[in-house]
Amino acid sequence: MSVTDIARRMLSAKAEKFTESVIREMTRLALKHNAVNLSQGFPDFAAPAEIKEAARQAISDDINQYAITWGAKALRDAIVEKFERTQGIRVDPEREITVCCGSTEAMMSAMMAIINPGDEIVVFEPYYENYGPDAILSGATPRFVKMKPPTSDDDVWSYDPDELAAAFGPRTKAIILNTPNNPTGKVFTRGELEFIRDLCVRWNAHCITDEIYEHILYDGTDHITMARIDGMRERTIVINGMSKTYSVTGWRVGWAIAPAETTAAIRKVHDFLTVGAAAPLQQAGAIALKQPQSYYDKLAVTYAEKRARLLEILTASGFKIYKPRGAYYIMTDISAFPDPDPKRFPAATRDVRFAKYLVEKIGVASVPGSSFYNDPNDGASQVRFTFCKKEETLAAAEQRLAKLRA
Ligand code: PLP
Repeated sequence: MSVTDIARRMLSAKAEKFTESVIREMTRLALKHNAVNLSQGFPDFAAPAEIKEAARQAISDDINQYAITWGAKALRDAIVEKFERTQGIRVDPEREITVCCGSTEAMMSAMMAIINPGDEIVVFEPYYENYGPDAILSGATPRFVKMKPPTSDDDVWSYDPDELAAAFGPRTKAIILNTPNNPTGKVFTRGELEFIRDLCVRWNAHCITDEIYEHILYDGTDHITMARIDGMRERTIVINGMSKTYSVTGWRVGWAIAPAETTAAIRKVHDFLTVGAAAPLQQAGAIALKQPQSYYDKLAVTYAEKRARLLEILTASGFKIYKPRGAYYIMTDISAFPDPDPKRFPAATRDVRFAKYLVEKIGVASVPGSSFYNDPNDGASQVRFTFCKKEETLAAAEQRLAKLRA
């Protein structure tokens, strides 16, 4: 038996059940092919100077040792103040907040804190690809509820309420919500949240709500946290972080806000997973979260301009686009393009072949739609692009995508 065979036999069944992140792989391919990277959602422009200075200062002040495992007090206090200012809910910094290594770890810790063998979670599809491995690693069985693409520019992604209701049952432990949503840009309305609330109450389920794009909103949409919906405060785990709002995806600072008993369990999981997020960056986070409302307004305006720019570029290049109402991604339909080379990667779905062709031959990296679906065939005609990029980057993408028309 070869070394590879022996090593493979010693892997966990869980780790065998999922692949590496397609989104992160696309960034590696973009680097390899020197392509314009519109795949992974990280800004390629500078973070606010004041926040960077706060991080430098924290290191100079020797905030270099472990913070309290569930988060530096200054950051937890800032989270409380901001959550109250923006969503009108006051939480207890001592018992209801866990600061983690990004919202990614907050989501994982939350799931590991509440899931037992046999538990089911309800997940809207398409979904942010991490939720699949999160479910496998925590031992949850996902029940997917399909969202349908909009049929016009005024329409939004929607789902069948009966299908959603049918996904809940006595085994349901939680629903995973992501609003504003990646990859669709859907922003859930109060009416939709109330419908989900009724199901959570009926089946005694949690709602884990990933609100990392809370400030990136367009067309007058409003972000409402599920924790604000009557009857949901006690069963909601809010996941959030600094990555997207302050353009610091590499800092890895996020948090979970949850009722005290749930938080106690999340804190234990978090402590033994990572001990804590980077102490000086938590300190800088406390400064970041004190930005005035004008900062968040400007962020939304800047992204609205970038959304308009990429919508224009993609439309001109022949993509059918689904206009997002929040977050910074555009899902597109690629049916109008011929299958680039069916003989290459014949086992892959068409979106994967298209994304590979785009990165290798056109020089633009995107994310194949199938990575957002449980059954890859469901995403075979979709590809996602991000617009959290400088004008130069978008202009370079425009030039290269023009080749598609030829
Ligand atoms: N949640 C969603 C919906 C995302 O799109 C992303 C990143 O793309 C994350 C979480 C990751 O957040 P963090 O950097 O805080 O781990």
